[in-house]
Amino acid sequence: MSLAEPLLDVLAPQPRARQWRPDRVLVTRAALAWPHGRAIVERAAALGCPVVELPGDRLVGLGQEGDARARYKAAKGTLAVTVASAAKRRLQPIPPSADWRFDLAEGCPAHCQYCYLAGSLGGPPITRVYANLDEILDGLADYLGKGAVTSASEARAAEGTTYEASCYTDPLGIEHLSGSLSAAVQRFGAWDAPVQLRFTTKFAGVAPLLGLAHNGRVRVRMSVNARPLLRQEGGTASLDERLAALGALARAGYKVGLTVAPIQPLEGWRDAYADLFDAAAAALRDVRNLDLTAEFITHRFTPKSKAVLQDWYPASKLEMDEALRSRKFTKFGSIKHVYPTATMGELRSELMRLAAAVLPQAKVLYWT
Ligand code: SF4
Repeated sequence: MSLAEPLLDVLAPQPRARQWRPDRVLVTRAALAWPHGRAIVERAAALGCPVVELPGDRLVGLGQEGDARARYKAAKGTLAVTVASAAKRRLQPIPPSADWRFDLAEGCPAHCQYCYLAGSLGGPPITRVYANLDEILDGLADYLGKGAVTSASEARAAEGTTYEASCYTDPLGIEHLSGSLSAAVQRFGAWDAPVQLRFTTKFAGVAPLLGLAHNGRVRVRMSVNARPLLRQEGGTASLDERLAALGALARAGYKVGLTVAPIQPLEGWRDAYADLFDAAAAALRDVRNLDLTAEFITHRFTPKSKAVLQDWYPASKLEMDEALRSRKFTKFGSIKHVYPTATMGELRSELMRLAAAVLPQAKVLYWT
């Protein structure tokens, strides 16, 4: 495959994130019984969001009528405040990032044309936030010391038991409504044990986190990519906003990281990724005691995610051509389409070279 993929419009302005204001908020009866659920509803109402109190615990009235565009718009404008069931509170290993995945919410208000959730969450892309936050956080202790991903890795065991909070949502993108991330940070900060809360984000509203007592038990990674590719990430913060936010977190003593994703061989990719690393280095230049990691994730898709994404973003120019990709099997036996070995090798050697040269403090956690 040629590395010269269709060039995205380099000169187009990057999308800027506004604080999400849902078009409507649905709250279940059970969610209203939790103080955290009521607080979310109050914050949404204070922002002027219409709130619908449902008669029971089933999510009804999702407004999934009309064509695909209307259904997508209705779903992306909906915040549902619900209760995470016992099954949802059962943690799963999440290699290679962390020992365990836990969810404060499911779904995300942004509009990334490659969204990872397309292949993992079923149904309309609403954002659900969980009211039973205390139950979710209380359950984490059962998994302490039982991790088999980072805990089993010689290079990463020192992180303690790792808990990843951003597999099914971008928790910072909804923090102004949920408050769940701040609560989780404070819970980990007060947890006197070898543990680490991890999350990655494409948002920059970190002000509520800066003064929290995280006690070095939180690693925040900023999801970043070559500037031209950020056009694929509607409704998120610009690269410069994200890097400035990462610098602010690092200066507030947080462990930080870069999640470079989804890596794509766009035209001029060597220069574009060099620019990214230069910008990251500039944002972190004066941070004392910087604790920085880097994670690298190349673009991939599955038959299911491709079908969902083509429904959500029919005009997207994101390349998802099986003929240009290699097939790999997931741990569940399904197919994913990744870049061919030669392309992957070129990307990997250049990005590793850049990381070592421009951000020598960064500890590389994985490439996938
Ligand atoms: Fe999906 Fe993450 Fe983009 Fe949200 S920020 S739309 S979860 S890829």
